Amino acid sequence: SDIEEQAARDLGRDLGDALHTAAVFAEKRAMVGYKEQLIATVAHELRNPITAVLGNLDVLAELIAPTPPLEASRRAAERMRALVDDLLALSEADGPQAVPTEPAAFDEAVVETVDLLRTVAAAKEQTLVVAVPSDPVPVLVPRGGLDRVLGNLVSNAIKYTPAGGTVVVDLEAVPAASENPATAVLRVVDTGIGIVEEEIGRVFNAFVRSDDPLARRESGTGLGLAIVARTVQRAGGTVHVDSVHGEGSTFTVTLPLAPTPATPAPPDGPAG
Ligand code: ADP
Repeated sequence: SDIEEQAARDLGRDLGDALHTAAVFAEKRAMVGYKEQLIATVAHELRNPITAVLGNLDVLAELIAPTPPLEASRRAAERMRALVDDLLALSEADGPQAVPTEPAAFDEAVVETVDLLRTVAAAKEQTLVVAVPSDPVPVLVPRGGLDRVLGNLVSNAIKYTPAGGTVVVDLEAVPAASENPATAVLRVVDTGIGIVEEEIGRVFNAFVRSDDPLARRESGTGLGLAIVARTVQRAGGTVHVDSVHGEGSTFTVTLPLAPTPATPAPPDGPAG
């Protein structure tokens, strides 16, 4: 019911607000390092009990008829797990990160993320368009990090775009030119609610959620874009947002292109 859904949303928001307050407090006390460690430890310790609660709710759902309190509990537990997973991803993006020796295929990751989110966009009758180059786009980013960047940006675009809107995910390889090295440029463009001008500078900060009532209707932890920013910066890239409130947003990620080893051409033309 609406009341149960509202309760689940409120719970998630309260949890997010409490963590935000705690983070601001810790910052003020200049407990740098300690704050990150505390968050990572708490998230880690909460993950197992939350998984146990979700498992038990599954068992209950099979024993008794679905009831609103059971449904509300499941939604609340799922929100908690999402928050804990985001916190762990954030601390991972912050922690020491080995540069992978094998490049990941950015083009493949883009196509996979879009395919995974197709049903979510379809449920909102949105047009979801993906465009990737036919040649591989290798980047030296751990594949898990790449997937999280894409997942957060594309699911935000769908989430913050009303039914019937359009989301375009476009990947381009920009060759080196004079002193500029070769880059992979990802654009996630939506025709959604946009971001109010005063808030644009803050959206990549952890725990920041918009005060815009249109954005507040959606649930979230305020961690997705912080994970995106840290992961991209770790890999030597940049992330940037252009947005007009009420019209839409464009998130642009630029990553250094990994060199492709020169592969000898097959003797009888391209395969396939
Ligand atoms: P969450 O979505 O969990 O709140 P994020 O860190 O992913 O957290 O995003 C932070 C805030 O930035 C969101 O609360 C929302 O206000 C705004 N935002 C992010 N992506 C978009 C988008 N595509 N369109 C409009 N607003 C967005």
